[in-house]
Amino acid sequence: MICIPIIANTVDDVLRDMAEASKVADIIELRLDYIKNPDLKRILERRTRPVIVTNRPTREGGKFDGSEEERVAMLKLAIRLQADFIDVEHDSIQYINRDTEPRVPAGKTKLIVSYHNFRETPADLTDIYQKLRQCGADMVKIVTFANTITDNIKIYRLLQQAQAPLISFCMGEYGIISRILYKRFGSYLTFASLQKGKESAPGQINIHELFHVYQPQKQDKHTTIYGLIGNPVSHSISPIIHNTLFREMDFNSIYVPFKVDNIGDFIREFRELDVKGYSVTIPHKESVLNHLDAIDLMAKKIGAVNTIINRDGRLVGYNTDCDAAIQALEDINQASATGTKNDRLQGRHVTLLGAGGAARAIAFGLHERGAQVTIVNRNYERAQSLARDVGCISMKFNNLPEVKTDILINATPVGMFPKINETPIDKDRLKPGMIVFDTIYNPIETRLLREAKTQGCKIIGGLPMFANQAAAQFELWTGVTPPRELIREIAYKKLRGE
Ligand code: NAP
Repeated sequence: MICIPIIANTVDDVLRDMAEASKVADIIELRLDYIKNPDLKRILERRTRPVIVTNRPTREGGKFDGSEEERVAMLKLAIRLQADFIDVEHDSIQYINRDTEPRVPAGKTKLIVSYHNFRETPADLTDIYQKLRQCGADMVKIVTFANTITDNIKIYRLLQQAQAPLISFCMGEYGIISRILYKRFGSYLTFASLQKGKESAPGQINIHELFHVYQPQKQDKHTTIYGLIGNPVSHSISPIIHNTLFREMDFNSIYVPFKVDNIGDFIREFRELDVKGYSVTIPHKESVLNHLDAIDLMAKKIGAVNTIINRDGRLVGYNTDCDAAIQALEDINQASATGTKNDRLQGRHVTLLGAGGAARAIAFGLHERGAQVTIVNRNYERAQSLARDVGCISMKFNNLPEVKTDILINATPVGMFPKINETPIDKDRLKPGMIVFDTIYNPIETRLLREAKTQGCKIIGGLPMFANQAAAQFELWTGVTPPRELIREIAYKKLRGE
């Protein structure tokens, strides 16, 4: 179930937001602590969905700063007015005693006893849960703050052990996955804000994004989990792409972003959740190799993994960036070369800017196709080292004007959002007929590509490569080839903000 908290300050605004939220939510949480002079009777009379009445004190992260008697009196009033639920903090539950507070009619209002920790996710969650269970409430709610991604696993374990309905998840950016995966984790409900800016707690995702990207209504205890390992991950377009593919192709699967600091801890702890596949992005593509059970030959050669498959508990690493980039190049290159697709790069001079993960993948792929590759990088030692590994040549940035090249590839982040006015190479070095491939896909057309177009070059953006690698990942995970056109369409829409 999805609960939308109402955090408006006036009764009129509460009624407006409650009506709006009731169109999409299963339950509404009425935050009395936000409302000036709350007319609870009027509000509850207008409800069309079950309502949880909460009057959170400042000590538990709420806004109510009056006396405890005053605060509890409002919760007792909610019981007399037959609210569907009241949420009572664990340290005030003794004031809402079932025996001394007659319900009207008896048993109508359900009691949620809650524990909130805005600092951390403590280790003794089971003890906290058992204590709260003994309060005699109808339901327990345990909400903690995630300081790291592995805190979510503590909540997952707690939910797996719970003997009765439990609401539990982590707050904060690291805790977002526990909110999205609430059904798979086993929480009775999750919270989503009515819109951006109306969050009642850190990390709360808005209802539009939750429905549009993650479709929680389709999730159940058997939903297969996939995800993106990286840092940062919040702006990635991979969740919308893979979740749309899962929906269109009728898979009971979900793809979520994992913001990871320590890759070793993450891989070890998350084996328990049995995530079936991962995409890997900056900064973990290289360091993840040490934590996997097996690595595909090409990924080992490249020294970077961007895809992981879970084969019966064994995590196997692959690199789909290499083929994705080569395929994008071969597609644009077909009009300007004869022969079969596989020899279109044979003998062509390619200048590759960058020596990081993407450049490594592209350099090995090009070398395999017989291209004459020159690596140019800011850190020249790194360029030399990659050139040695691949078996090609390297060159200093300053010597670039002398390079005669058929294809120029940018595999650095220069020109990427938000620094969209930057370009890795002077316009004058771009010659008519050259193919210019920028691996950056945000923005869709970089300054480098715009200038290359005016110089009479053929251009190729990062989106085809991105779509190709996403398609290859999807195929490795599911065994099914997804429509590449659909991937490009979703990516274009997302990047244009549609
Ligand atoms: P990475 O491993 O961090 O490597 C970054 C590379 O860019 C290094 O060679 C670095 O040079 C160079 N660089 C960084 N800032 C620079 C600057 N200000 N001036 C000159 N060179 C600079 O990153 P990566 O994973 O290879 O990603 C590189 C680019 O590829 C990113 O823009 C990313 O968006 C793109 N990419 C695209 C796709 C796709 O599907 N389209 C897939 C993967 C990556 P130093 O060695 O001197 O630090």
